Amino acid sequence: MHDARKDIPMQPDPAGFKGKAALVTGGTTGIGRATAVAFARAGARVIVAGRNEREGERTVALAREAGGEARFVGADVSRPADLERLVRETVAAFGRLDMAFNNAGVEENLGPIVEKDVETYAHIFDVNVRGLFLSMKHEIPAMLANGGGAIVNNASVAGLVGFGGVALYTASKHAVAGLTRAVALEYAAKGVRVNAVAPGAIDTPMLDRFTEAVPKEKLASMHPVGRIGKPEEVASAVVWLCSPASSFVTGSVLPVDGGWTAQ
Ligand code: NAP
Repeated sequence: MHDARKDIPMQPDPAGFKGKAALVTGGTTGIGRATAVAFARAGARVIVAGRNEREGERTVALAREAGGEARFVGADVSRPADLERLVRETVAAFGRLDMAFNNAGVEENLGPIVEKDVETYAHIFDVNVRGLFLSMKHEIPAMLANGGGAIVNNASVAGLVGFGGVALYTASKHAVAGLTRAVALEYAAKGVRVNAVAPGAIDTPMLDRFTEAVPKEKLASMHPVGRIGKPEEVASAVVWLCSPASSFVTGSVLPVDGGWTAQ
């Protein structure tokens, strides 16, 4: 039987990432770690950012095992000065910035809005929203210096629909979706694409903390596919959104949710 695959030449750089530099915030665990490794496997040089140096170096080791170049840079996205330094150190390390996955985020303990305090609000918004705003503020000029780039922000299904019990997290992720769409419009004609992923429940340390309150089986049953997602399943969407294969896609908030928000 004819095997069509034999007619297809091996592509040396299928994602088009050779020589490109990527930055992943919150790259020390979970979805960020899987994405840093996926970027490295696809040929990009990767900066892994976060606060936990030990876990960050573990991600760097995994990215190198995947065949890529990676470095850890310590940065707390709730500190504005750290974000300016993070982008500066990325450009100093690799000479450019082409792709960024703005993924650092914090969750909220379950409870009604009347029981939430100002400190919780400030913490969630400082990391999930202000951190994202400042990430893009510094990343975009660095990308424009090389003719453009691609940004992917990590929203959530909670950025698309309401979730009682985590109203502040939900509001922060709706803000991520709004920032993504607005900033995409600002830079659409200038060569910087800005998209977001909106994951359903994904098997990470964050979900482990959340499932102390909501059992994993219950969460799994809320997804039409009948299971929780893997960090690698979000990572592959991010890699695609950063690659030339998605060159006509900007301003989108892509559900990666096993059909949750299609219901
Ligand atoms: P995770 O394992 O807890 O990872 C969170 C990451 O964010 C860590 O790498 C952490 O790094 C980083 N981070 C937290 N606060 C930070 C700060 N102040 N400065 C810098 N980095 C900070 O959780 P995950 O599930 O992978 O979450 C990643 C993103 O996906 C979050 O934005 C989350 O909202 C979103 N998300 C997750 C799910 C899910 O079900 N897991 C679903 C939808 C969306 P350090 O501790 O080293 O700083």
